[in-house]
Amino acid sequence: MTAVPALSPLQLAWLQEIGLDRHMLARYVADPEPFKGGVAASGTAVQAAPEPVSAATASMPMRAQAEPARMKPAAAMVRAGDALAGRRLAGAGAPSAAPAAVGPVPSDWEGLKVHIAECRACGLHAGRSQTVFGTGVASSPEWMIVGEAPGDFDDRAGLPFQGKAGVLLGAMLASIGLAPDTPVFFTNLIKCRPLGNRTPTPDEIAACRPYLERQIALLKPRRILALGRLAAQALLGADADLDALRGQVHRVRSETGQEIPVVATHHPASLLMRPQHKADAWRDLNLASSIVVAAGVATQGA
Ligand code: URA
Repeated sequence: MTAVPALSPLQLAWLQEIGLDRHMLARYVADPEPFKGGVAASGTAVQAAPEPVSAATASMPMRAQAEPARMKPAAAMVRAGDALAGRRLAGAGAPSAAPAAVGPVPSDWEGLKVHIAECRACGLHAGRSQTVFGTGVASSPEWMIVGEAPGDFDDRAGLPFQGKAGVLLGAMLASIGLAPDTPVFFTNLIKCRPLGNRTPTPDEIAACRPYLERQIALLKPRRILALGRLAAQALLGADADLDALRGQVHRVRSETGQEIPVVATHHPASLLMRPQHKADAWRDLNLASSIVVAAGVATQGA
């Protein structure tokens, strides 16, 4: 029987908040084998550095300061098979529909914001109150968290993750001991709300994907957490099920050549309906948290 992981009282409180207790976690204690591989340094300069949006951290409900009692992840950092390793973001051969109506996608942060706000590249513009660009620390954040699409609350606020899924996401991040001042940028695969919270279509995803690619290139995040199947598939250029993509560290190459570790996990909205997957999501978050990125080289820490 595997030992129960060492967790601070605050982490335990957050775990209870997301519906887990420490005994449920015992079977998720990590394989102690240290990571032996690594992610190569990109060595490629980013051509257009973003203006920091603000020094403030992400506006998620991460009020608790937990001890950084990190667990070793169960899965070693693996390449997602030869076909996926080092794959350029968005996948080889995938359609990339540039929103021709408003010209080329800008290579500066403020220009990108304006461009997205005016985008009419797909039909979703007709049903939006406003676009939802993303929020958080916009210069080399430790985490970039990519959801699916804005919901009603997000559309009204112009900010991602304002509803119940966002509250659960905040609790999940706190439950892995992520300090409230950790630099995080939150955004979505799709920048406009699909009416009725329907799943975005492949055409809508293709129309919006250049924006996510440019955000990643400008942000230079240390790691990306993809929430749900659509975000994972789009980021990894894969069409596999979420179960085949989660539980491991993938790599993508940004437009500017930076290799970025990506971990896919369950979307918090899906966890609200299927709480039995919360332990797996917690494990994925610990895996993402365990990635240590120093001087452009990602490896996996204790
Ligand atoms: N709100 C978001 O901003 N993204 C999601 O994926 C779900 C809700």
